[in-house]
Amino acid sequence: MYPPKFGYVIPDNIKEALEFLESHEDAKVLAGGHSLIPMLKLRLLRPSYLVEIRRLSDLSYIKLDGDTYKIGALTTHYDISKAKIPLLSETASKIGDPQVRNMGTIGGSISHADPAADYPAALIALDAQVKIISTKGERVVPISSFIKDIFTTDLNPGEIVSEIQFKNLKDYKFSYQKLERRAGDFAIVGVAVALKMSGDVIDDIRIGLTAVGNGPIRPTKAEEAIKGKRPTDDVLDQVGEIAMSYANPKADIRGSAEYKKKMVKVLTKRAILTAIQR
Ligand SMILES: Cc1cc2nc3c(=O)[nH]c(=O)nc-3n(C[C@H](O)[C@H](O)[C@H](O)COP(=O)(O)OP(=O)(O)OC[C@H]3O[C@@H](n4cnc5c(N)ncnc54)[C@H](O)[C@@H]3O)c2cc1C
Repeated sequence: MYPPKFGYVIPDNIKEALEFLESHEDAKVLAGGHSLIPMLKLRLLRPSYLVEIRRLSDLSYIKLDGDTYKIGALTTHYDISKAKIPLLSETASKIGDPQVRNMGTIGGSISHADPAADYPAALIALDAQVKIISTKGERVVPISSFIKDIFTTDLNPGEIVSEIQFKNLKDYKFSYQKLERRAGDFAIVGVAVALKMSGDVIDDIRIGLTAVGNGPIRPTKAEEAIKGKRPTDDVLDQVGEIAMSYANPKADIRGSAEYKKKMVKVLTKRAILTAIQR
């Protein structure tokens, strides 16, 4: 199917892109195009203009600034997968196939806010912040309030995501577990875990779920249930059950709601055990 007609703008720099977006409220920025182009072809979107930002190299970087990771919005999934960033590199390596990873960007992924996207599970576990810019200045919002609902974010017309930031969790271990029908598919369920051990006890833990709600979920009561404890079978079962109670998946071609809920328990336990063994 062909997309509807649109104008095409290639700004020379970010300032020019932001000025154009400010004066054309229904324009859409084009990053990797791996979600936007399908939306156009399905005629779910009819923007007047596409503003191509993907070649603006100022927004493609990975920095460790003091104890904070700063990742430019136009950094591709491929570059993130190769950068040895705690939790996020593993998550990026499980997105789609090589073509998707070479073209798709982290800013595009979170701005698209697909409820089955992989990054949001990791970003909510990492307590990430999203930097948003416009001609009026910048603001920073936590990922938990940036993604508001299915395909809905906190972005206002004229604003773009410029950077994703999160603390470098020293002494933590990580795992992202993704259940998919075939390699390269979207997640049936995804669970990200960051945890810190003190001897054989879990000192701290953050858990992020994706594909089982309208956006990423942080099952904080499950985290509390294991903090300060040894990860015995009983404790892991309890944590998995609590994480499962946060999930509110919808039945689709990837499985029934009941199956997906049960997989939250399985993957939460697996993510915790995998992280501990690393
Ligand atoms: C075959 C296939 C398989 C896929 N599999 C997976 C998968 O397994 N897991 C997964 O998580 N994703 C998957 N995806 C989606 C993929 O990760 C996309 O790359 C991503 O969702 C969108 O990033 P993009 O850079 O391509 O953005 P685009 O498609 O260019 O843009 C997406 C949306 O975000 C907006 N946007 C883009 N950048 C910004 C910005 N900086 N600021 C504000 N708004 C912006 C655009 O206007 C548009 O509305 C898959 C896609 C395909 C085609």
